[in-house]
Amino acid sequence: MRKKIVAGNWKMNLNRSEATELINTVSEHLSGDIQDRHIWIFPPFPFLTDAVRKTAGTPIKVGAQNCSMYTSGAYTGEVAADMIASCDAELVLVGHSERRQYFNESNLVLTEKINQALGNNLCPVYCVGETLEERQGGKVEEVIEKQLVQALYHLSAEKLQQVVIAYEPVWAIGTGETATPDQAQEVHAFIRKVLADQYGEEVANEISILYGGSVKPANAEELFAMNDIDGGLIGGASLKASDFIAIFNAL
Ligand code: PEP
Repeated sequence: MRKKIVAGNWKMNLNRSEATELINTVSEHLSGDIQDRHIWIFPPFPFLTDAVRKTAGTPIKVGAQNCSMYTSGAYTGEVAADMIASCDAELVLVGHSERRQYFNESNLVLTEKINQALGNNLCPVYCVGETLEERQGGKVEEVIEKQLVQALYHLSAEKLQQVVIAYEPVWAIGTGETATPDQAQEVHAFIRKVLADQYGEEVANEISILYGGSVKPANAEELFAMNDIDGGLIGGASLKASDFIAIFNAL
């Protein structure tokens, strides 16, 4: 079912007391019934359990920023999807561009991570996006299609519907430069078309596709107004409670 979502990716920021303060402030400012909108946060691993406890009874759902491609065993430093699920977190980011770029995560590794997430009843938020060089070289569709086909096409339609996709142009992440609403809409519509080619339009229309890349209170509303944009994955602005809430209120 296509959901409207604002999700905060905290990346490797905040210590434990700062994380607690941010969660408390965000939950205090979520006023009343949030209706059919969803608000998700992705704190660093050490704060997952705290975050789950502190958000209990609020509409906020908690997820991890990554999971291992392996189930368990001698993989020092890795965190399994089962461990995340056992902390009562419900979501996991898969294939954020920083993981692809700095930790060499390929589409094939990400296929395994998607399987691990779904196998442990975590909702994967699968990130796709092109670099500036790829955009300038006219390769946006080629890159995005490959990221979708290689990591998702093996899924049944039923499993695919448990996945959320985030379109995050690499050139817009943490740079202050945002895709225009038309640029973002064009790629979101393309993502839906690629999914429709394999799964049919009805299924493709049920998938939530979030935009990420320097979303701020000032540009959120016009981005979220586009037909195929179902919300946002927010980095920097999710660390400031008032900005994150303002972005959520723009949904
Ligand atoms: C992100 O890291 O997913 C992101 C979109 O970051 P920012 O909002 O800071 O560009």
